[in-house]
Amino acid sequence: MRALIVVDVQNDFCPGGALAVPDGDAVIEGVNRLAAQSGFVVATRDWHPADHGSFAEQGGPWPVHCVAGTSGAELHAGIDRDLIDAVVDKGQVADREGYSGFEGTELERLLVEHEVDAVDVAGLALDYCVKATALDARQAGFDVTVHLGATRPVEVQPGDGERAVAELRAAGVEVVD
Ligand SMILES: [Zn+2]
Repeated sequence: MRALIVVDVQNDFCPGGALAVPDGDAVIEGVNRLAAQSGFVVATRDWHPADHGSFAEQGGPWPVHCVAGTSGAELHAGIDRDLIDAVVDKGQVADREGYSGFEGTELERLLVEHEVDAVDVAGLALDYCVKATALDARQAGFDVTVHLGATRPVEVQPGDGERAVAELRAAGVEVVD
């Protein structure tokens, strides 16, 4: 059984959002196409408390984004909800990064329950939450494929996207166009 993990395709990570990934909404078409072909689709959402430690005002690296219950935290309207089987909220603990969809969530249990052995990963952003989610999936023993056409890097430092791809490949993750 193959599953698709759609990472954080939320308003705040798309153009106009609080922490927009360049060209972030360009992933939507590819995500919907992958979801239509997938037996089980899980969407993750960054879902932070208002005082999350990753926010600049708490000393973290990011502007305030994806605060639980706000419109910025909602999945982008372009994502076909009919194709999403489950939504997993992450990053809910103030003093944990929460980049990975597996960190402190029911994601692994959901995949095991659905007898998933291979996962496709897409969404935002390649060099943070997509990378962390794919690495954790690999660590949990799944065959993992990241789809470059359906992800984009935020690239705080130029080259972060390429470095993420190298790190993923070194960990045994397949990276495809
Ligand atoms: Zn976040």
